[in-house]
Amino acid sequence: MAVERIIHTATDDNDPVEVELEITLRPRDFASYIGQERLKQNLKLAIDAAKQRSETLDHILLYGPPGLGKTTMASVIANEMGASIRVTSGPAIERAGDLASLLTNLQDGDILFIDEIHRLHRSVEEVLYSAMEDFKIDIMLGKGPSARSLRLDVPKFTLIGATTRTGALAAPLRDRFGMMHRLEFYTPEQIAKIIVRAANILESKIHPEAAKILSTRARLTPRIANRLLKRVRDFADVNGDGIIDTETTYAALNLLEIDELGLDPADRYLLERIIENYGTNPVGLNTLAALTGDEATTIEDFYEPYLMQIGLLERTPRGRKATPKAYKHLDKKIKGGDQPSLL
Ligand code: ADP
Repeated sequence: MAVERIIHTATDDNDPVEVELEITLRPRDFASYIGQERLKQNLKLAIDAAKQRSETLDHILLYGPPGLGKTTMASVIANEMGASIRVTSGPAIERAGDLASLLTNLQDGDILFIDEIHRLHRSVEEVLYSAMEDFKIDIMLGKGPSARSLRLDVPKFTLIGATTRTGALAAPLRDRFGMMHRLEFYTPEQIAKIIVRAANILESKIHPEAAKILSTRARLTPRIANRLLKRVRDFADVNGDGIIDTETTYAALNLLEIDELGLDPADRYLLERIIENYGTNPVGLNTLAALTGDEATTIEDFYEPYLMQIGLLERTPRGRKATPKAYKHLDKKIKGGDQPSLL
């Protein structure tokens, strides 16, 4: 089912408004980066230690669902280290030579951020191993029998890798990170703070009660919170006096068809497909993808983490299962049996 999804959590790099919004709202230091306290504590310690010893920071792997602040955290780290950051992504580095030129153009202490690092090509990944470990790379010169390998030094850089799934990462790559940190979903209170902060930056007036409502509908994810805020702000500008109060917030959410748990029509469609076709039995990821017309990776990265977080979907070794809470939320009856006592 193709629906325009506000919750679709990737940034649309072709949409200048979207890119602008992300850049404007991105926190620059630990103080303005809300939440992820444990991660911040660990990183602060590592940064202070590295600075004290005048060493480069260990390589860091950040993982977790999209939109939780991995890219933002990488730039905060660079800022706190007083280092420059070079941002790229796994699929963008097509050949080993591309990585070699990226690395040789860095300075000592620079940060290289590779988003979607699980999508690096195997040949590129192998070059990265020795760069991460010894700050050396081997490049091949020429082709055929006359080809020879040349060993080059690269600056002492810090790699920050981001991935939605550590499982998809090759073990030798995973092992070369000194620190691995998972980003957690935010609490509604933290999301409310993020919304108020963003509204201030955008010079929008928002009632605290309206921020509270939005905070429960943003899938506990900052990127979606910002995006929702923007849509509600548009609504308030066009249909009201520009002030975001509870009335405009509810009206805008209704228009977007986002329900009280933050689900949009595509989430509900996914859960309904499971319930109607499989009841309380598990369904395999690929079958589910065929049922909804989505890519399996879209389901894994975008839908599932939140649906599991709020207990509507369960992942079992035999597949995905709708939970009694999902039945209740969608007002469905479990067929051929008693309703679980949980209801
Ligand atoms: P990811 O790399 O995990 O997909 P991003 O770092 O691109 O996520 O974050 C998406 C947007 O959400 C950023 O532009 C930023 O405005 C906002 N954001 C993320 N984390 C925070 C945070 N902790 N506090 C405030 N805003 C945040």
